[in-house]
Amino acid sequence: MERRTLIAQCTKFYMRQTNLAHNLAGLSSTGFSLCYWRRIDIAALTRQNSLSPLANNHKFRAREMSKMKAIVVHEFGAPEVMKLEEFTTPKAAAGQAVVRIHAAGVNPFDTYMRAGTYAIKPPLPYIPGGEGAGVVDSVGEGVTKFKPGDRVYVGHPITGTYAEYSLALESQLHRLPERTTFSQGAGIYVACGTAYHALYHHANARASETLLVHGASGGVGIAAVQIARAIGMTVIGTAGTDKGLELVRREGAHHAFNHKTAGYTDAILKATNGRGVDVVLEMLANINLAADLKLLARFGRVIVIGSRGDISITPRDLMARTASVRGFVLWGISEADEADVHAGLYAGLDNATIRPVVGKELPLGEAVRAHKEIMETGALGKTILIP
Ligand code: NAP
Repeated sequence: MERRTLIAQCTKFYMRQTNLAHNLAGLSSTGFSLCYWRRIDIAALTRQNSLSPLANNHKFRAREMSKMKAIVVHEFGAPEVMKLEEFTTPKAAAGQAVVRIHAAGVNPFDTYMRAGTYAIKPPLPYIPGGEGAGVVDSVGEGVTKFKPGDRVYVGHPITGTYAEYSLALESQLHRLPERTTFSQGAGIYVACGTAYHALYHHANARASETLLVHGASGGVGIAAVQIARAIGMTVIGTAGTDKGLELVRREGAHHAFNHKTAGYTDAILKATNGRGVDVVLEMLANINLAADLKLLARFGRVIVIGSRGDISITPRDLMARTASVRGFVLWGISEADEADVHAGLYAGLDNATIRPVVGKELPLGEAVRAHKEIMETGALGKTILIP
């Protein structure tokens, strides 16, 4: 997607959320700096607390001034710009809830955002983390669907999840099925939500079709394998290590191939008896897109989920197959599709067709390590931080 289009799409989406958060927080526009990430920036959080009409009440003042541990980014750059600090615990205004985060999901986009290379740059300083799971700690006026003590997962909350507490709109909370652990819950929205959205809303995947998950050993890929297998598709997955291949097979792929082995695309084609695959979910399009087009059957679709650069393709490969390439970012999802995603994920988690795989659990203070390792090869599921 062209960068400008992406920015426009994301900005529209974030402003919709921002205005809502802004109105609910009851802050003046001058006292509330831009919060693209559906997240108030930390300076605004401080102002919110200090400007609260409850500030003169000692009981509430004590609560407002309580501190939490959080990872804070003061400048864009290398992983080391993330510092473990004490910060004011957020407080729920009307329509909001504070969640005690038990596990925070680490995603590749967290690293792009921290580096300052992502299409969206949050105002500095900010707390990273677009998803997590925990227990509702407190709710603001007008919140009716959740109460303190409820187990939830959060997607794109107002303040980041690399912290002991995260502030979210009621609409950003989702029930965590009893059988799902907090660490699994921290990897639901971005990984499983992306896989679900890609298969159902973009690929229009059907049970009779063959799917290639190009990069199946990571968070998104494993979820895609599980969902596709559950709906009856023939599933082919790739990974870059023997352990990754084993995991991909264990989670439901009929065939698994190493994307680092020469000639592996020929082996994929052979596994389809030369027919090709109907759908490719692509995690690294800048490396694989040209080859993906040659792996497609007639009317095949490549869904670009991840890409870290440019690539040349042969358009005739599309023409010869009446094929298409489509990309998306989860942040651009419509409200209707998002509701569909959460309903589908809840059902899948509840009946165990979706089983988020936790590859690595690290203490919150090891966020720097988590950001370094998630960009290395050898993925085996989700990386989680435990505050
Ligand atoms: P992840 O857990 O770090 O997994 C990365 C996956 O890519 C692993 O399976 C890895 O396999 C695989 N990979 C590495 N080299 C590859 C190659 N040459 N060909 C094919 N696959 C290769 O990341 P994730 O959370 O699953 O996300 C995957 C990608 O999607 C990332 O780029 C992320 O930024 C993007 N993403 C996009 C959206 C969206 O809204 N569009 C949402 C979520 C994620 P090995 O490690 O086994 O080699």
